[in-house]
Amino acid sequence: MTTTLVTGGGGFVGSHLCDSVLSDGHEVIALDNFGSGDRANVAHLREETDFTLVSGDVRDLPDLDLPVVERVYHLASRASPADFVTHAIDIALTNSEGTRHVLDYAVEADARVVYASTSEVYGDPEVHPQPESYNGNVNIRGSRACYDESKRFGETLAVAYGRRHGLDVRTARIFNTYGPRMRLNDGRVIPNFVTQAIENGEITVYGDGSQTRSFAYVEDTVGGIRALMETEGLAGEVVNIGQDIETTIGDVADLICELVGGGEIVTQPLPKDDPSRRRPDLTRARQLLDWRPTIPLEDGLERTIEYFRGQYPEDPNR
Ligand code: NAD
Ligand code: UDP
Repeated sequence: MTTTLVTGGGGFVGSHLCDSVLSDGHEVIALDNFGSGDRANVAHLREETDFTLVSGDVRDLPDLDLPVVERVYHLASRASPADFVTHAIDIALTNSEGTRHVLDYAVEADARVVYASTSEVYGDPEVHPQPESYNGNVNIRGSRACYDESKRFGETLAVAYGRRHGLDVRTARIFNTYGPRMRLNDGRVIPNFVTQAIENGEITVYGDGSQTRSFAYVEDTVGGIRALMETEGLAGEVVNIGQDIETTIGDVADLICELVGGGEIVTQPLPKDDPSRRRPDLTRARQLLDWRPTIPLEDGLERTIEYFRGQYPEDPNR
């Protein structure tokens, strides 16, 4: 049994990670400032003796008096492009100053760390699919830069702490992940389309819908992140985690309308710097972690739609 800190543990991916680690009999401390997370995501863990929720900011970590842990999953960071406009400084500082404090804490505790990076470090990629060796194509001054560049900096810091302090840090470059516990108003594409379809409203496809993403169901992503943590001998590694089946946004819109039985597709302008294609090269994940995603998009969407329907006091279609 280990004690594990999950920063961002009250968020979408973080709360599923807490569930997964707890279900293996470990103790979990979740740290979250609930900027984009929700206490409801971990409400079912309230009675668990091995679960502790700490309300706080990673930027204040030195003042939080956290106990010594053996494992740290560092996920604290807003992740929705809708937040990049309204919370740019918060995001940039969480991923730089906050990550610095998390790494210092891990050095002090002699803990192993998984740092949650992102496919956004590849920007609008000129190499397809994206292997970990690709250094990306990011607009350093664009609206996504607060997130992309600070996540890139976080990776740099993680590597530096590994070299300078011998810290065992592994970096997960997570690709688009969806599922239950995403916010209704998150702004990312799947919560947007699902809520719009449930409300039988307009499905807002940005641009002509030909841009692609590769969508992983959260259970798959959590499995990959945990394999990265628990596989021996991977200090300093960086591994893509996600789904490698590529889908156009137009096709995702059609599929969600079909599964929900509602919605009408309308087009809106494509935001600037919106990546045109994205798909991970998962060779390294398969070789190092013996891991691959298994949940088909349609199955994951069914489960996600069921969750979102439950979030409405009354389903508008019933
Ligand atoms: P999320 O917004 O649901 O989770 C992030 C959590 O971090 C929230 O609970 C939020 O309140 C918390 N947080 C933010 N800033 C904080 C701070 N300064 N101090 C303490 N807590 C803070 O988003 P998510 O999709 O679950 O993302 C989790 C992590 O995974 C993020 O680091 C994100 O960059 C990474 N990631 C997610 C995806 C995805 O598709 N979901 C893709 C790539 C990377
Ligand atoms: N998108 C869309 N309609 C929406 C929200 C997003 O067409 O209501 C598109 C967006 O332009 C992007 C893709 O869906 O091309 C994925 O967007 P998301 O915000 O989920 O994440 P990203 O991968 O861009 O960070």
